[in-house]
Amino acid sequence: MNKTDKAYYACDEHVDYILDDYIYAEGTFPQINKIEPNDLWITCEYCQNKSVYLVGNVSSPTKCG
Ligand SMILES: [Zn+2]
Repeated sequence: MNKTDKAYYACDEHVDYILDDYIYAEGTFPQINKIEPNDLWITCEYCQNKSVYLVGNVSSPTKCG
């Protein structure tokens, strides 16, 4: 099994777009993680706004495996 570690940053406006892209590309539903406001400025995949969501199956330290 391939590990899916792709993740995309999305602003509030484009999170739906990113979600569709992810499902289309990966064939699976990703996790959507809210980024804390104090995090670094990371731009959205679709625009130059600050992203507020990280869309992807990123490994979480609270999750085993
Ligand atoms: Zn955007």
